[in-house]
Amino acid sequence: MKLFLLLLLLAASNVTAQTNPEGVEVQRSRLLLLPSSTVDRSAAQQYHELMRAAQQKNALNRDPQQVERLHRIARQLVPHATRFNKQAQKWTWEVNLISSKSVNAFCMPGGKIAFFTGILDSLQLTDDEVATIMGHEIGHALLEHGRARMSEQLLKSIGISAAAMLLNLGQISAELLAQAANLAVSLPYARRQEADADLVGLELAARAGYDPRAAIAVWQKMSKYAQGAGRGQPPQFLSTHPSHQSRIKEIEANLPRVLPLYQKKAP
Ligand SMILES: [Zn+2]
Repeated sequence: MKLFLLLLLLAASNVTAQTNPEGVEVQRSRLLLLPSSTVDRSAAQQYHELMRAAQQKNALNRDPQQVERLHRIARQLVPHATRFNKQAQKWTWEVNLISSKSVNAFCMPGGKIAFFTGILDSLQLTDDEVATIMGHEIGHALLEHGRARMSEQLLKSIGISAAAMLLNLGQISAELLAQAANLAVSLPYARRQEADADLVGLELAARAGYDPRAAIAVWQKMSKYAQGAGRGQPPQFLSTHPSHQSRIKEIEANLPRVLPLYQKKAP
């Protein structure tokens, strides 16, 4: 049992960099103890609960034009997702718009996307900017950052041997999973994960024909908005996606890898 565990962990923590002939290079997640099927199922459940709650408040997909716009952008980004995760072609993608002042957007494991009207309105986002934000969020899902975090949370709460034993027996309870998932979505991502999600977003946007340079404008708008928000609540997006000074620099440094993809696609 112990040896099996050790092998499992060694295999899981073996980091491989994804190398594309053109495009960006990112790191795969490590320590993916929880099976992706379990994580995706749990995420879908939570996503549908959120959407049901929004529906009950009459806050789900209220603006047909914006909803259609989000769907159109997602339709163009999604076909390129398999470059970063082959499983993505089997995902049941969903895109919804929630009426809320919250400046936020996310993509849960398995391709469950949500945008809040607050991020579209407060930042007056262009299509290119929406595409880079959506691409960034999809990037977190493709690189399985949520799955990695849920696995870490589970290990922290019950320990390696208990987690492995329960997984072996198929007895990780729904409650325990929900707990891990909750902690996983409320914590900020690690700096490397943020940077990698940025890079995936750049490439997805560029391949779909959206100007990846818009990512720079997004972060500039975001920090300007945060300053203007003054003593009010900072944008929720920034609390789960911390803005680092190096962020825009890294985006700029990677533009030469993705601009040719955009220029090939642009009219
Ligand atoms: Zn992020």
